[in-house]
Amino acid sequence: MENKYTCQTCTHFCQHYVQYPDGRFVTCYSGHCVYPRQKFRHCDTKACPHYVPKEEEPPR
Ligand code: SF4
Repeated sequence: MENKYTCQTCTHFCQHYVQYPDGRFVTCYSGHCVYPRQKFRHCDTKACPHYVPKEEEPPR
């Protein structure tokens, strides 16, 4: 079975950003995972067995 989940949608993934000279923050194509220990990951890295989907924020 194909693994269609990636680190980007995992609750353990922290997105990285770059700041432009005008002050804007823009997402980049990478981040880090914090479970079970910190490590670099790309957004499209295939999910590992520790994958837990992010919960969607409730509507305001
Ligand atoms: S490496 Fe595993 S636990 Fe970490 S962000 Fe990716 S899927 Fe989640």
